[in-house]
Amino acid sequence: MIFRINIDVVFYYFLTYFLIFTKDIFPVYSFFKRIKMNKNSRRKFIKQNSILGLGTVMSVGATPTVFTSIKRDTDIPAILGGKPVRTESWPKWPRWYPETDEKRVLEVLRSGIWSRNKVVTEFEKKWAETIGSKRSLAVVNGTNALIASLAQLNIGGGDEVIVPPYTFIATVVAVLATGAMPVFVDTDPETFQINPEKIEAKITSRTRAIVPVHILGLPADMEQIMQIAEKHDLIVVEDACQAWLAEINHKKMGTFGNAGCFSFQNSKNLPIGEGGAIVSDDDDFMDRCYSYHNYGNPYGTVVGEVGAGTVIAGTKLRITEYQAAIGLAQLKRLEEETSIRNENAEYLKSQIKDIRGIIPYKLYNNVTRAAFHLFPFRYNKEEFKGLSRENFLKALSAEGIPCSSGYAPLNKMPYLNNAFQSKNFQKMYPKEMLNFDAYLENNQCPLNDKLCDEEAVWLSQKLLLAGKSDMDEIAQAIDKIKKNAGVIKNQISK
Ligand SMILES: *Cc1c(COP(=O)(O)O)cnc(C)c1O
Repeated sequence: MIFRINIDVVFYYFLTYFLIFTKDIFPVYSFFKRIKMNKNSRRKFIKQNSILGLGTVMSVGATPTVFTSIKRDTDIPAILGGKPVRTESWPKWPRWYPETDEKRVLEVLRSGIWSRNKVVTEFEKKWAETIGSKRSLAVVNGTNALIASLAQLNIGGGDEVIVPPYTFIATVVAVLATGAMPVFVDTDPETFQINPEKIEAKITSRTRAIVPVHILGLPADMEQIMQIAEKHDLIVVEDACQAWLAEINHKKMGTFGNAGCFSFQNSKNLPIGEGGAIVSDDDDFMDRCYSYHNYGNPYGTVVGEVGAGTVIAGTKLRITEYQAAIGLAQLKRLEEETSIRNENAEYLKSQIKDIRGIIPYKLYNNVTRAAFHLFPFRYNKEEFKGLSRENFLKALSAEGIPCSSGYAPLNKMPYLNNAFQSKNFQKMYPKEMLNFDAYLENNQCPLNDKLCDEEAVWLSQKLLLAGKSDMDEIAQAIDKIKKNAGVIKNQISK
């Protein structure tokens, strides 16, 4: 009896040794590792390959210490000291290839012509072409693209503008900067976008505009939003600051409303460091924007009397020639990178959608392409043995998958009250409208609260630029946490 146990221990000891220390030459293990199987095919594989006892070893629970080594190497969550699913780095962002990207930038630098000139104009032409818009104007950033557009569409003090609460702060900052009051419409948690069904209930006699945001690079339902806007005679400025090349029925985001606004900030899918653009088919509007971005000096149809000087109360939002040169270099890659993100997002979604408690984003039926600035899913802790989202994120990061919880609700932060206390707001609105408690009450977005506070998980766009097998690792990491959710929860709370 004792003798038999010893034989077993010796056998398993050597097997363990092989599995752990000879990964790369042990053919079954390295094959197993190389093809990075998904959960189902891995189970099948283990079943079909029990000759070596691989399946048995992996599934034995109560065991001598040698098994702990096997477990430690493959199955123990990284957050509890196990080996991470992924140890390699992810693609870097932004990308920069000196051989192809620097020639034009250096030419500009050496020319000494740095302020707005031909290269900016060339970038604008290319951007308009890319988006399928008649005109484009480059400006200093996406925030100011929004402010300029709203201002030149005559949005300002005393107006209400409908916005989503699930967006980057810049959307709402832009509305406030014009003196208009943001009115929040709750999010559709399935798509992460403004819920078009809930817009009409928020329209009042003061409502002048809607600023839909294609947040995370997934298109908002523009067909429905435009119908509502037409019915109520509202201006639409699309915040497409995360939606480069995203489409509904093959029409690009940014071309549905009166104007579309883009950002080229460092983290964005078309990174320049800082930068933005306005697109529109409306020549008069674009001429006004141009004039506004250049101190209000005459441009195109914006003309005063000869010699009368500056026509519009403008500002200065011009970008430099070297920014435009960087933009032209980045633009060359955008189409291909967008395709890769779409393919990988679709594949990753297919790999995780059956994990109970993981609910990936949904695209509206009319969406033909997304930008995937982020890959979002909703996390349901009930399906993960009560493991909090915060600890799920920590566990996933530990497995080598960077992730975050995303936005906080923008409809209930102090900046709003600060704007209401400003001189301009005090003069533009009746007292009742500036009662902050009443405002908070009227602008509740309970589904968005839940999305922000408990559910949302984001993966960055740069992860989607990796390969298919890297997407498998993301799925494996989530699956691993799912299987160990109870242990992680108990260990972490200790
Ligand atoms: C980035 C961003 C902006 C602002 O763009 P900047 O170029 O950073 O000013 C506006 N809206 C959304 C949704 C964004 O993601």
